[in-house]
Amino acid sequence: MKNRAPAVFALFGNPVSHSLSPLMHNAALQKMGIAASYCACCVEDMEEAMEKIKKLPLEGVSVTIPFKTAVMPYLDEVDAIAQEIGAVNTIWHDDKDRLQGYNTDWIGMVRDLEEYLEIKKKRFVILGAGGTARAALFGIRQRGGMPVIVNRTPERGERLAKEFGVPFYPLSQIKGISADCLINTTPIGMAPDRKKSPLARDIIGRFRWVMDCIYNPLKTQLLKEAEEAGCMVINGLGMFVQQGAEQIRIWTGKEPPVALMREVVLARLKEDHGD
Ligand code: NAP
Repeated sequence: MKNRAPAVFALFGNPVSHSLSPLMHNAALQKMGIAASYCACCVEDMEEAMEKIKKLPLEGVSVTIPFKTAVMPYLDEVDAIAQEIGAVNTIWHDDKDRLQGYNTDWIGMVRDLEEYLEIKKKRFVILGAGGTARAALFGIRQRGGMPVIVNRTPERGERLAKEFGVPFYPLSQIKGISADCLINTTPIGMAPDRKKSPLARDIIGRFRWVMDCIYNPLKTQLLKEAEEAGCMVINGLGMFVQQGAEQIRIWTGKEPPVALMREVVLARLKEDHGD
């Protein structure tokens, strides 16, 4: 980190008002004794926002929906993994005044998944073909797992599957696929649409594990139905905390208080929804 005190970090996205990143990052930075603040910025114009990083100046930025790919041309450097994934969720404004792009979603997902199962040689169905699906594909393959893509829009799913060299199946054929773990990377079931699920109830029992990248609510309709069907379930909280922890490592070079980060987010979710 540079010797700016207090350092300023930000979240760029739209919308950002419901994000729990400020809560989680501020708690972590404070506990680490770093004089810094982290705020959420609702971005309308990405080019303008990117100029602000150097002018303000900001030490680091988290990037979220819908800018994870759009931000890439504005960076001085994008690391090889983020390049392969095709999405950046972390910007570090380095000591040479350069903007470096990274992706921490993939490692967040992998670290959390590995708390529950060994990825190597397991078969995964990744539902969705957006930025999170890309991070999941990279992470699972990196750890020796075998992913397939299932997506609503066949053209998008096929394109992604071809790019990563994995099989693609349309959503209508999901009944015929067997796998160890299903990962939902679509936003279906996210608050406020808590009653929705991306899959028919009778299909879920086919998977031993079901992971939902959504963390708000903690138990999505998909996870409720998966539990009823006897599956082991993994919510998106661990991934959220781990991707944020990795951002702090990149920005500060120090180890963040992961347990505290999890605790503050969990407490807020419980307070808001009784999850
Ligand atoms: P995205 O790039 O917009 O991709 C969303 C995907 O979901 C698309 O493939 C889309 O299918 C599919 N989809 C959307 N609505 C659908 C519907 N009604 N029926 C069927 N498919 C639908 O989004 P993203 O950035 O990957 O984010 C996806 C989710 O992951 C969000 O809920 C986000 O909050 C969550 N996430 C969580 C973490 C974490 O740390 N826990 C990190 C990153 C993201 P089409 O191709 O057919 O449009």
